[in-house]
Amino acid sequence: MANISRWFLNLFLKSSCPLCQRPTGELVCPYCQKQIQACQLQNPAEFWQGDLPLFAWGNYQGTVKRSIGALKYEGQPELAQPLGTWLGKAWQQSPPIRGKLAIIPIPMHPEKQKQRGFNQAELLAESFCRLTGHKLRSTNLSRVKATTAQFSLSRQAREQNLQGAFQVTTSSQKLREPVLLLDDIYTTGATARSAKIALEAAGMPVVGIIALATTKKV
Ligand SMILES: [Zn+2]
Repeated sequence: MANISRWFLNLFLKSSCPLCQRPTGELVCPYCQKQIQACQLQNPAEFWQGDLPLFAWGNYQGTVKRSIGALKYEGQPELAQPLGTWLGKAWQQSPPIRGKLAIIPIPMHPEKQKQRGFNQAELLAESFCRLTGHKLRSTNLSRVKATTAQFSLSRQAREQNLQGAFQVTTSSQKLREPVLLLDDIYTTGATARSAKIALEAAGMPVVGIIALATTKKV
């Protein structure tokens, strides 16, 4: 009996924060939430300009970096729920463009996704769309080329590495709305530009990309 009671206690009262293991009633404990909020950009539309405008929730550092790592590599896909919701709130507070959008998360290569079990960009996009009401169109784009890890490459090599990496799927739904790409991290934008080229060649205009975090400095 005592064991069963303990089991129930653990189940309902002592779930622990995936980032710091402190017991918490919420998914992410208030302490880590505060640490994450500290990485938020004052103006998420700071980089909303140029050929591929960027809207980024925060800087890729500290607890945000840690959260994305836990989400992707430590089997914590549930973290996408609060993170995607915060991204959605930031968009709702200061949307750089108005109107309905089709949200297309940057797809992973099927083999890589099979290994991980999920695509974190898609999970973030689900939470983002649930809050904002924009249409999720994950199946319109696929990644057909398994690419070398980008961080090990020069800028030029990154662009080459990604050439032809994406394809619009044959079963693509016709879109009435312009496309907003969504990814977890934005670094040089090479990945997003490659996706934009594929979509626009198929007649789907891309207005920009939204990312949870960026390495770009203000
Ligand atoms: Zn915590």
